[in-house]
Amino acid sequence: MHTVILDYRSIIGIFPLALTPQIAVMYAIYSLRVYVSMKILLFETTIVVYMINLGLDIDNTITEQPEFFRFLSKCVREHGGKVYIVSSRTNHKDVLEGTKEDLEELGIVWDEIYLLPKMDVAKKNCPHGELNDSQKYNWQKVGYCKEMGIDVFFDDDDQVIFLFTRYAPEIKVSKICRASNVRSPFG
Ligand SMILES: [Mg+2]
Repeated sequence: MHTVILDYRSIIGIFPLALTPQIAVMYAIYSLRVYVSMKILLFETTIVVYMINLGLDIDNTITEQPEFFRFLSKCVREHGGKVYIVSSRTNHKDVLEGTKEDLEELGIVWDEIYLLPKMDVAKKNCPHGELNDSQKYNWQKVGYCKEMGIDVFFDDDDQVIFLFTRYAPEIKVSKICRASNVRSPFG
């Protein structure tokens, strides 16, 4: 289609007097189709590049790299995405208030905070009978992130990282390492 349009443009450019009503109408239709295609292309590009739903653990993740996550959380929200805080801190009203204060102090902007429900809830809701209790508890992060349509998730816990790769491969998960926990490759 694009080749045909270029042909018409070059014909019109070289022979402006040859612009008969029929060609003018065809040119207008093709131009409109190109315009619509370009709009769709730009729209899709915008969604892919900017509208990211970001999920963040707090302890040893945000707290390990607060400057980076401050920048990232603001960037995501400024471009139309959402920031979800997903933590295994106790799901209690006081803890939630304390967590909000912590996030404000750290300069993190957010849309939703999810503190994992207790173990008995985890055991009831987790559909994966093959997991042990601890894994079922942490799986709640995976279940929540899938439900919220989160695209990218950061955590420091190996078990959480494993559960995401196995049960939510569509979510890009990244591990934050504490410098003191990194083993030397030099022995
Ligand atoms: Mg953590």
